Amino acid sequence: MKAACWYGKRDVRIEDVPDPRIINPRDAIVRVTSTAICGSDLHLYNGFVPAMLAGDILGHEFMGEVVELGPGVKNLAVGDRVVVPFAISCGNCFFCRRQMFSLCENSNPNAWMAEKLWGHSPAGLFGYSHLVGGYAGGQAEYVRVPFADVGPVKIENGLADEQVLFLSDILPTAYMAAENCDIQRGDTVAVWGCGPVGLLSQRCAYLLGAARVIAIDRFPERLRMAREICGAETIDYTDGSVLEALKMMTGGRGPDACIDAVGMEAHSHGISFAYDRAKQAMMLETDRPIALRETIMACRNGGTVSVPGVYGGLLDKFPMGSVMNRGLTIRTGQTHVQRYMRPLLERISLGEIDASCVVTHRVPLEDAPRAYDVFSHKHDDAIKIVLKP
Ligand code: NAD
Ligand code: ZN
Ligand code: ZN
Repeated sequence: MKAACWYGKRDVRIEDVPDPRIINPRDAIVRVTSTAICGSDLHLYNGFVPAMLAGDILGHEFMGEVVELGPGVKNLAVGDRVVVPFAISCGNCFFCRRQMFSLCENSNPNAWMAEKLWGHSPAGLFGYSHLVGGYAGGQAEYVRVPFADVGPVKIENGLADEQVLFLSDILPTAYMAAENCDIQRGDTVAVWGCGPVGLLSQRCAYLLGAARVIAIDRFPERLRMAREICGAETIDYTDGSVLEALKMMTGGRGPDACIDAVGMEAHSHGISFAYDRAKQAMMLETDRPIALRETIMACRNGGTVSVPGVYGGLLDKFPMGSVMNRGLTIRTGQTHVQRYMRPLLERISLGEIDASCVVTHRVPLEDAPRAYDVFSHKHDDAIKIVLKP
């Protein structure tokens, strides 16, 4: 089959690789009908995630048709149309039973690697380095889905791929990011980043009762989408101090909650950006936490900072004094996708939310190398790119 494979920094190739096969009784093989490139894939593409090996198959947002099932999967049938969550979860362990699916303790066969870096291991993830299992991803014609009796959600009501594809990741991620803000009626929520995760977080913040949403980015098209599709007020961070702008907009107090939908590759201007870029290049810090620092400094006293943005390792100049002295709460995590898929599918069916609004490009899987380049540089006003095998 054909698959998009990682070969190093900014080097994605379409390769012929062996078809996946059933290995365990609870596996399924899915023929992928739609898959997408995520902001998290860019951290792999740009070489910031350790333990990638040349030839690894990328992709953790995908859906398709079940073509083969292990004998342990009783709730699916060959021919079913399914969306697959990016976190691989057994459904039975301490964490799965508590609905913390991205922390499953049975799905990362390389847990020892993650334990070295993070103390304990989270769940295995599709297409996301050997640190979290080295599972082949879904930017391919076929994919093996472990624990297929737990993760995949059947789509039975004729919704189009693009309406449901993002149940695999960014819609639950945005929803959890907003839920983690513990939004009270009338709250103001500020969202750093107007990529797919940021935009959908803005939508979900309104859905959960925010009165005002303020969005921060620098790309005009993304800021336009934030205003016109998400109903947010916007700040272009290249215009000056975001902290000052937010104070002005909130009577000096600051937003009740701040969402970091940027993550480890934040961009900025001026001296602090040069500082983080240099330290990251010299491997003295793994992440550039520019947006995270800002979310903390901007949040009102006693407010919440919600971090869907992905971080890999060790951060520098983390304003812990601000967190502690001003009583902030920080909530974060890889999304517990399985917890949100069915309720959000219901909301999609009722027309309450439409995540397909972020799609700007649809290209054949063969064009993945160019699509990564375009999405990475935000060229051509690209916001979300769907690949069709
Ligand atoms: P993206 O790259 O399309 O969007 C990131 C946006 O942040 C860009 O528009 C960029 O211009 C903006 N940005 C950069 N620096 C900024 C700054 N200093 N201030 C404000 N905005 C800034 O990516 P995406 O797909 O929207 O993903 C966003 C983040 O969410 C990534 O880190 C991704 O890894 C993460 N993510 C996490 C989960 C999870 O389970 N927690 C799931 C999906 C994605
Ligand atoms: Zn993702
Ligand atoms: Zn589990």
